[in-house]
Amino acid sequence: MKLSGACHCGEISYTVDGEPVRSGQCHCNACRRITGTGHNVQAFFKADNVNINGTTKTHDSVSDAGNVRTRHFCPTCGSRLFSENSKAPGGIGIAVGSFDDSSWFKPDVILYTSERPVWDVCDDTIPTHDKM
Ligand SMILES: [Zn+2]
Ligand SMILES: [Zn+2]
Repeated sequence: MKLSGACHCGEISYTVDGEPVRSGQCHCNACRRITGTGHNVQAFFKADNVNINGTTKTHDSVSDAGNVRTRHFCPTCGSRLFSENSKAPGGIGIAVGSFDDSSWFKPDVILYTSERPVWDVCDDTIPTHDKM
């Protein structure tokens, strides 16, 4: 699969050549605040399959499981683009809304439904977990 995407202002763009290894939708409180919406959706790829143009800014935080999550965003427009997890080196998560065409996407799993805002309705055909 060949994919491309960019931030809102176009300063950061990327291409992907390869299949996603997994994908997910997360309703945890961190994802809610980071996105300003009810959930975050990401597709995960091997980092070797992703080519990024431009220099992101990053922010590190520690997950419930004790792993360091590094989130990348555009320094100019603030769009969220990528994430890395210290538990899964060599992998990169891409914010699905940043792809030029994301019609192929469907999450494998929906996480942290215990923290899901009541107004953010889920697809009930997808497996869910209360937490991770
Ligand atoms: Zn931008
Ligand atoms: Zn989350």
